[in-house]
Amino acid sequence: MSKKLVVQKYGGSSVKDSDRVKAVAKRIVSYKTHHQDVVAVVSARGDTTDELESLAFEITNNPPEREMDMLISTGEQISCALLAMAIKELGFDAISFTGGQVGIKTDRIHTKARIITIDARRIRKALTKNKIVIVAGFQGVTRDDEITTLGRGGSDLTAVALAKALNADVCEIYTDVDGIYTTDPRIVTEAKKIHTITFEEMLEMASLGAQVMQARSIEVAKRFNIPIHVRSSYSKEEGTMITKADEHMESIAVRAVTCNKSEAKVTICDVPDKPGVAARIFTEISKAGINVDMIVQNVSRMKTTDISFTVPKVSLNKTLATARHITKTIGGGNILQDDQIARVSIVGAGMRSHYGIAAKMFKALADQKINIEMISTSEISISCIIERKFSDMAVKTLHKTFNLERT
Ligand code: ADP
Ligand code: ASP
Ligand code: MG
Repeated sequence: MSKKLVVQKYGGSSVKDSDRVKAVAKRIVSYKTHHQDVVAVVSARGDTTDELESLAFEITNNPPEREMDMLISTGEQISCALLAMAIKELGFDAISFTGGQVGIKTDRIHTKARIITIDARRIRKALTKNKIVIVAGFQGVTRDDEITTLGRGGSDLTAVALAKALNADVCEIYTDVDGIYTTDPRIVTEAKKIHTITFEEMLEMASLGAQVMQARSIEVAKRFNIPIHVRSSYSKEEGTMITKADEHMESIAVRAVTCNKSEAKVTICDVPDKPGVAARIFTEISKAGINVDMIVQNVSRMKTTDISFTVPKVSLNKTLATARHITKTIGGGNILQDDQIARVSIVGAGMRSHYGIAAKMFKALADQKINIEMISTSEISISCIIERKFSDMAVKTLHKTFNLERT
C-alpha cells in the first residue's frame, strides 16, 4: 500500500514563538510515525508580516512593490527554517525550502501574485528520501526569479496549490480556532462551529471578510475539488470540512455573518449623467491596479449624478488621485471619502430558496438605529455598508436575528 501524503499549513499564531514551533514539530512528527509523508507550509510568526510592512512605511509612504515582496517574504523564511530545526531536534529528517526552491512560479503582480505553475519534483525527491518537507508559505518567484508574494493570508493558497500539485490525500489548515464558525468567535462568543461547509459558501464568507481562510485559496480548492480540513493546532479535535455540495447537505438560509473593516468609501459627486461615464471612471481605476468592490450610482438630478464605491483602505490615496484626474477630463464635482466604514454580510446557500431574508436583515439593523449607507447582494449573500463604530453591534445583532447561536 502506498503511503498517504498530507499537506498541512500552520498559520502565524500556530508558530508565534519557540514553544509553539516545537509543538508544531511534535504534531508533524506524529504523522510521520504513523507512516504518512508530510509537506508542511508555514506562515510568518505571529505579527511578523505586519511588522515588516510597518518597517517599510517608516522609510516611505509609497514602498516599491518589488522591494515590499523582498521584505515581507522573509517572515516565512524564518519560520520554515526554525521548524525544520525543531523537527531535526526530535530525531527526524526535515528540510526547509522557499517558494522559489520548490518551483512555485507566479505572474509578475507583486504583493498579489497568482500562481501559474508548480514544478513539484524537488519536493517529491525529498519525500522519496524520507524527509519531512517544510515550505515557506505566501511566496513564489516569477519566470525571471523575482520574488513575489500571494496576497495577505497567502500561505493558505500555497498549501492548497501544493495539495493539488502533489495530489495529496489530505489538506489540513491549522490555525488558532478549531474550525469555521458562524461568525468570528472573537466578536461573538456564542458563535457555533460549523462541521461541514461548501466551497461556495466558504468562498463567499472569505471574500466578505472572514479572515480565517484566504478567498483565493478557496477558489483554487473549489476549482480542483480539494477538500480542506480547517482545525486547531492547539488540540486534536476535528475541525470543519470544506467540501463540494452534497445533495444530502441541508441548505441553511443564513449560515454565517461576516464583517470587513478594511474598505473605504469614495463618492464622486455631480458627474455628467450620460453613456460612457461610469466606463471611463472604472477603466481608469482598474488600470491603476485598484480593486473596486461595491458600486452605487444615485438617481440623476439636473443631468448629473453621484457615484459611490468601495475600495481597499490601502488603495484609498491612489483611488483619490485617480478620481481627481478623471474628473478633470469628464467633469464632476467634489470627491468625498470615508475610511470609517464596515461591511457586514450574511451568507448562506439556502438564501436562493428563502424569502424575506433581506427585509429581516434591514429591520434588525434599523432596530439598533444603525443606518445602512450602501447595499449589495449576490445569490447567496447580502451586504450592508455601515459606520465602522457599529460593526460589532451589527454582527452580534444579525447573529442573533438569524438564530445562529442555535445551529
Ligand atoms: P492564521 O494565523 O492561522 O492564518 P488567521 O488570523 O488568518 O489565522 O485566521 C484565524 C482567525 O480568523 C481566528 O482567530 C478568528 O478570530 C478569525 N475568524 C474570522 N471569522 C471567522 C469564522 N467565521 N470562523 C472562524 N474564525 C474566524
Ligand atoms: N504571513 C502572511 C500574512 O500575514 C501570509 C499568511 O499568513 O498566510 O498575510
Ligand atoms: Mg490566515
